[in-house]
Amino acid sequence: MTRNNADRLPQAGNPPPTPPQFQKKAQLDFPSQTEFVDLPSKGLFYSPGHPLSEGAIEIRFMTAKDEDILSSQALIKRGIVIDRLLQNIIIDQRIQVHDLYVGDRDAIMVKARITGYGADYDVQLSCPNCDTQHKITFDLEKATHEELPDLSALDVEEKDGVFYLELPRSQVTLGVRPMFLGDENWLAESAKMNKKRGREEALLTNQFRRIIVSVQGSTDPNTIGSFIESMPAWDAKHLRALYKTIMPSVEMKHWFSCNDCSYEEEVEVPITVGFFWPK
Ligand SMILES: [Zn+2]
Repeated sequence: MTRNNADRLPQAGNPPPTPPQFQKKAQLDFPSQTEFVDLPSKGLFYSPGHPLSEGAIEIRFMTAKDEDILSSQALIKRGIVIDRLLQNIIIDQRIQVHDLYVGDRDAIMVKARITGYGADYDVQLSCPNCDTQHKITFDLEKATHEELPDLSALDVEEKDGVFYLELPRSQVTLGVRPMFLGDENWLAESAKMNKKRGREEALLTNQFRRIIVSVQGSTDPNTIGSFIESMPAWDAKHLRALYKTIMPSVEMKHWFSCNDCSYEEEVEVPITVGFFWPK
C-alpha cells in the first residue's frame, strides 16, 4: 500500500509538518523457542499453589548466551554453573532453582541438553566386571522417568510430601522427605568445609539429617540427630535402598555388553562433564 503524499503536504491554517525523523530501525524480534518438561515428581513434592505443583515446567531452548554461562570459569569453579544455566532457561522466574526436587532438575537438564547439543550423548562406561573403558553414545530421547511406585506395597505412607516408613531393625518409624537442590548444594558445601578442616566426611549421615524430618513422630532436631548417630547400619542400608525406590528419577539405562570379557548388564548412564561440554 502506497502512502498518499497529499497527507504530508502543508495545508493552509495547519502547522507545518514536523521534519522527517530518522526512523528508528524496527526491532527485529527473535522469539525464543520454549518447551514443557514433564517432572518426575508430577508436582507432588511442591506445596499446592507452587508453580511446579502442576507437574510440568516451561523452559527456553539453550542459546549462545547460555554457552557463555557454561564457559564461565568463575561459575565452574564455584560449582554453580549448572544451577545458573537452569535458572536462566526457566521461563517462570518465580521458580527458584534451589527449590527443585533433584529428580526434576535431572529431567530439566536432559531436555536442556537436547535443545542445546542434540540427543547424542557420548560417554565412557567402565565394564563392571573387567574395568575396561568403553565409549558409547546414549540417545537422550530414551531417558525416561520412573513412576511413583505403589507405596502401600512397600508399607510406605505419604502425607504432604513426607514419606513414613518403618525401619526393619530398630522398628522406628521415620518421616522422610525428598532431596531438593538446596539440600544437594548444602551437602556439597559441607563436604568442602569438612575437607578444608581435615575432618572426616559425613556424607551419609549428613544426607540423613537433611531428609529425615521425624523419628517416631517427633520433629525435634536433637531427637532426630541422636537417632541418626545410633542408627543401625542395617537400617541405614534399608533406608537408602527404599529411598531410591520411592523417589521418582530420570532413568538412563543402557544395555552394556563388554567385548573384552563378554560381560553383559543393564547399567545406569552417568551424567558427566561431557553432558554440557561435549567435545
Ligand atoms: Zn569387561
